[in-house]
Amino acid sequence: MWSGQHLLSMRDADADQARALLTLAHAGEFDPVALSGRTIANLFFEDSTRTRVSFSVAAQKLGAQVVDLGSSGSSVSKGESLIDTAWTIESMGVDAIVVRAAQSGASELISRHVKIPVINAGDGMHQHPTQALTDALNIGRSHGRTAGWDLSGLRVVIVGDVVSSRVARSNVGLLTALGARVTLCGPSMMCPDGLSALGCDVVRDLDSLVPDADVLMMLRIQFERGGGARLASRRLYHACYGLTLDRASRMKRGAIVMHPGPMNRGVEIEGTVADGLTSVIRDQVAGGVLVRQAALRTAILDR
Ligand code: ASP
Repeated sequence: MWSGQHLLSMRDADADQARALLTLAHAGEFDPVALSGRTIANLFFEDSTRTRVSFSVAAQKLGAQVVDLGSSGSSVSKGESLIDTAWTIESMGVDAIVVRAAQSGASELISRHVKIPVINAGDGMHQHPTQALTDALNIGRSHGRTAGWDLSGLRVVIVGDVVSSRVARSNVGLLTALGARVTLCGPSMMCPDGLSALGCDVVRDLDSLVPDADVLMMLRIQFERGGGARLASRRLYHACYGLTLDRASRMKRGAIVMHPGPMNRGVEIEGTVADGLTSVIRDQVAGGVLVRQAALRTAILDR
């Protein structure tokens, strides 16, 4: 999972390494000056609210300084390559780089060219490791699995535009490594059968899965990655694959609703479900800060 000092992917997630990060995040007992005198660079070349702000908040809570760079307002808009940008930042004495980019593999590429830790904050349709850790933290907390983070016996159903989703890919890697059974669900254009090669089931009929799921994780249709072209009608999609109040009422006792955000209310999830008692969506946001504190601390001090 860690590739040296870099946190890039959950494809070959290591359960022990994941448990160590989850335990650190769950305890939440961070030294507020652990990273004092250090500087973290947020290189966000794609839009983000939760991930970008939570990395900044996490770094500041550990006493680090944060510099924020996006593609507009930086020399990337003048044609500078990602590698040259990362070299430039590294040369200024920054201690770690957090990267969000539209290109799959961007963080890994950068990690091969710098000597400081690189944390992947989402690369195209590929991976989003800290989101998966955040989700595992919330699943473990909601289902009483924080001692040992053994998720076996839990069924996690991930629904929607899976083919575009780095969140889904990272979650399949991490949650299966922790013992959960993961099922992907969506129309064939958004959730092709071939995704079972990731090591999970692919099922079309959401209604058959709802009563059995311990976790229903709803995904946004990624319009910026062509999701709109795979969508015949929003209303039809909502009827077949949206988490409506009616569907949510058929969830089993103790099951939870998750969404990595941003949500399109009324498309993949009804607003009342997102705000309802079974929803842990706001806890996911809160957990995201803890996970990013654990990741930054580990990358800079322990690896
Ligand atoms: N925030 C998540 C991501 O960056 C999910 C999404 O955008 O739909 O992948």
